Amino acid sequence: TVARLRPFASTIFAEMTALATATGAINLGQGFPDTDGPRAMLDVARAAIADGLNQYPPGPGMPVLREAIAADQAARYGISYDPDTEVLVTVGATEAISATLLGLVEPGQEVVLIEPYYDSYAAAVALAGGVRRTVPLVPDGAGFALDLDALRAAVGPNTAMLVVNTPHNPTGTVLGAADLAGIAALAVERDLLVLSDEVYEHLVFDGAAHTPLASLPGMAERTVTVSSAAKTFAVTGWKTGWVCGPAELVDAVRTAKQFLTFVAGGPFQPAVAYALRHEQGWVAEQRDALQRKRDTLSDALRTAGFGVHASGGTYFVCADITPFGTTDGAAFCRALPERIGVAAVPVSAFADDKAAWDHVVRFAFCKRDEVLTEAAERLASLA
Ligand code: PMP
Ligand code: GLN
Repeated sequence: TVARLRPFASTIFAEMTALATATGAINLGQGFPDTDGPRAMLDVARAAIADGLNQYPPGPGMPVLREAIAADQAARYGISYDPDTEVLVTVGATEAISATLLGLVEPGQEVVLIEPYYDSYAAAVALAGGVRRTVPLVPDGAGFALDLDALRAAVGPNTAMLVVNTPHNPTGTVLGAADLAGIAALAVERDLLVLSDEVYEHLVFDGAAHTPLASLPGMAERTVTVSSAAKTFAVTGWKTGWVCGPAELVDAVRTAKQFLTFVAGGPFQPAVAYALRHEQGWVAEQRDALQRKRDTLSDALRTAGFGVHASGGTYFVCADITPFGTTDGAAFCRALPERIGVAAVPVSAFADDKAAWDHVVRFAFCKRDEVLTEAAERLASLA
């Protein structure tokens, strides 16, 4: 392995899922739902295969999907993207992230990540030969917020890009209006590109609304927005994602994407297009169900003795293990499947400053109610 990829030999998700499988534990580590997305969407994919949509689709993605993505962004947020030049279909958000860094960051340029960060960001910065700087989220009441002063201090003359993720994996933080405005003001002032990872855009709880960073003043021309069908329609295995942004930036992403995968899987594209147009009711129901699951798991963790951080969106809730007399989250998560039959992931895996986050572990609540009930019982045995 080349030196710049050596730190990324194995992901925490692979490790903890393997451990969950080996021990038969309930896997609340890796974030994937255990129920399917909308039936009619699955039928469209099945029909696409049966009808012979099995050869390379167009490089930028099928027009039917690019048009549905643009229509959804316009209807939901009032942002208008040209489906031909400003929308690109990718192999999941993961490829979108890597292609954005490869297409827009020169080797040696700096990229600022907000810590803890989704693990692929650091690896993608390394793939691009960039240099990462991290800025921590800070505790704020029951949840977390951005430290705008630290963010400002992390931006230097060589900074090319900020990576922002809201709703946030792993903490479930939904960045507030002041944080978003602060990011936008800084990006405009320092003329930065922004990668805005909004894969959980539809999974915001408690009646709050998602605000796309691209909708803020001065941001449309500098923001590459990443999203994915994975979380919106509960199809993490479909690996169908996309980027939206100004034509010049999307073209840079497309240039890199061509040589990563050339195109994204064909039969999924009309199915996701269908779902974006016809399954918004399903999406709202899923969001409400996930909010209840968030409550169930948060209560179970509290009962078991964890300190629970408030989650305002995503699939995830973070918990403080200090009440159990340890701050070693990695060891705690390695032992948990054997100990009580539940798997989680240590948040230190998402951070450069491991010591700062070692006492926090992440649990996924995107599971059937009976699975969460069983997990709650097992967690209660820790108390
Ligand atoms: N970004 C974030 C914040 C994620 O949690 C994930 C994982 N679902 C991804 C990107 C990758 O998404 P995909 O599965 O579409 O590649
Ligand atoms: N996004 C999911 C998570 O954060 C799974 C990602 C993965 O397995 N690479 O758990």
